Amino acid sequence: MDVIGEAAAQLSRRIEGGGTPEADWLGWPGLAAARRLSLNEWLPQGVRLVVVAPHPDDEVLACGGLLASHTARGGACLVVAVTDGEASHAGSSTLTPADLARTRRVESSEGLQTLGLRRGDIARFGLPDGRVERNLSKLVSGLHLVLQPTDVVVSTWRLDGHPDHEATGRAVATVCARTGCRFMEAPVWMWHWAEPGDPRLPWHRLMGFDLDETALAAKRQALAAHASQLAPRDGIEAWPVLGPTILDRVARRTEFFFA
Ligand SMILES: [Zn+2]
Repeated sequence: MDVIGEAAAQLSRRIEGGGTPEADWLGWPGLAAARRLSLNEWLPQGVRLVVVAPHPDDEVLACGGLLASHTARGGACLVVAVTDGEASHAGSSTLTPADLARTRRVESSEGLQTLGLRRGDIARFGLPDGRVERNLSKLVSGLHLVLQPTDVVVSTWRLDGHPDHEATGRAVATVCARTGCRFMEAPVWMWHWAEPGDPRLPWHRLMGFDLDETALAAKRQALAAHASQLAPRDGIEAWPVLGPTILDRVARRTEFFFA
């Protein structure tokens, strides 16, 4: 628990409303003060970057710029898609979960090609969206099959607020502790529910990776491939899954990790 912070575990972490505006984060000196590491410090030349994404698009939101920067210098990458994200339009009369899973697999593949990954650089586990916690042992055993001790692994923060994100983060932490992989936890939904400077969050562990123009452009283009998440959801909600505050965050010039 020390890595993620006992105090943060007491927070409600509810994901609701429009989320904390990006201007609030950018105006908070704590972000500018967070230590920056270079690409070589995050990922020594020659290591493989493995990103374990609970849902298609989380790999882009968490570290699309880091993926693009690593592939640009010939670095090996693997994205583990834990679920196909088939629950994002629950209740839709026009899109079945099977339609959505198919669509989102295509969207994630297109997005990853934009980031420089090859077709074979993705492992799809196909666990049920919204029920990762109940399938934790399957996730842990699947990760044991793909992770190598020298990998650097990124996944969602263990206290990110979304149940699938938290369960995935815990599974990855467990397997990394056993295999010796370095684990970087990316906050994704935390930026939505948290307040800048909240003393209960482990800001002292937050470190950044600054994106160059090419990486930032690739990240934004990769997110654009996730069209199902960017359009209003017919008959469900008038707003998309990825709303304006999230799109503002994707334009951020730094990606942050609890390390
Ligand atoms: Zn997600």
